[in-house]
Amino acid sequence: MTRTTRTTGTTGTTGTTGTTGTTGTIPFFPPDLFHEDRDTLLRLLYEIGTGREQKFILGEHTRRFEAALAGRLGTADVVACASGTGALQLVLTALGIGPGDEVVVPAFGCAPLAASVLHTGAVPVFADIDPVTLTLDPADAERRIGPRTRALMPAHMFSVMADMPAFTALAAARGLRLVEDSAVAQGASLGGRPAGTWGDAGVYSFVQVKSFGMPGEGGAVVTDDAETARRVRMLRNHGQDGRERFLHHTIGLNSRFDEIQAAFQLHRLPGLTARLARRARIAAHYTERLSGLPGITTPPPGTDGRCYYVYTLLADDRDALRDHLAAHGVATHVYYPRVLPDQAGFAPVAARRQPPGEQGGDGWPHARHAAARHLSLPVHHRLTDAQAEHIADTVRAHALGIR
Ligand SMILES: *Cc1c(COP(=O)(O)O)cnc(C)c1O
Repeated sequence: MTRTTRTTGTTGTTGTTGTTGTTGTIPFFPPDLFHEDRDTLLRLLYEIGTGREQKFILGEHTRRFEAALAGRLGTADVVACASGTGALQLVLTALGIGPGDEVVVPAFGCAPLAASVLHTGAVPVFADIDPVTLTLDPADAERRIGPRTRALMPAHMFSVMADMPAFTALAAARGLRLVEDSAVAQGASLGGRPAGTWGDAGVYSFVQVKSFGMPGEGGAVVTDDAETARRVRMLRNHGQDGRERFLHHTIGLNSRFDEIQAAFQLHRLPGLTARLARRARIAAHYTERLSGLPGITTPPPGTDGRCYYVYTLLADDRDALRDHLAAHGVATHVYYPRVLPDQAGFAPVAARRQPPGEQGGDGWPHARHAAARHLSLPVHHRLTDAQAEHIADTVRAHALGIR
């Protein structure tokens, strides 16, 4: 085996150079994601695990973590909960969405977008995506609005924020609630306004792979509305108000937050900006090397409203490109090979608000186009310059027919 040791530094990084070379497999997510903070994690596990209080959920660390996130966002309140999925469900329930209601969601995206709506008793209405940003298309969302529509729920997708100014205007014009699924975009901002703070409420996910992922499950609700925050706080802990135990004001969930994770995330929060900047530099390098290649569409250029949770391109021969990358030691991801309306759990409600003439399931052409072509490349902050270079070289070689 030849071992590539070249470190070009093309990504303009400071410090992270390619000492690992590019042989072997470059994982999509690194096995050493939390390497820098390993000692802290062990210390917190010991301290909190053996602490006199034996307080493992919703304690002082969670309160400080919530306050730290709210402080960074300049928003009124952040409520930590058990997952991003839990956060969506808490928000929808807190906003009073339930049986008989409809919520417009993107047809291309993750299952929780539709499942969280169905769990409240409401029905998701699938709208198509914008072919360039791959996020919910405001114009198509608008034509799916009907008499039962109560909310719009766009999601930021891969590295690009949804068109939140358009959705804010649409929600206001039609008297709808706006829920911002910013599970993958924590740390991004659009026009100076942070992801998560655009709608009546936003959500984050801290599951390992997200922009502020951690070694475990967690999520948060972000809102400027005190009443929504109060309701979410009650709902996350079985309808209790935090003052009197075993007094249940409403039917809630168990969607609580872990104290060790809260302390760990507080420790890691100051490094978030630098980690996202590293990802953005790798992404800029990919776009520079890959844009204009035959059969390849890179994410739209620019930095506003971007957050490189993953780097996702569209490839006309996606599966062949994926095989080529795998053969050259590059692990990739295809997130959503099927559109949501085709999934067994959602197909029964997928005919809702299909515009006339599109009842046959062809109402989401851009979602289907993206599902068949998208491919995500590794872009995490521990990727070395040499690895990023090797990934770009391998995509180029495939697209240019160099074998
Ligand atoms: C990951 C994700 C969620 C769910 O978050 P979990 O913490 O995994 O439950 C919701 N929406 C989007 C867009 C996501 O990417």
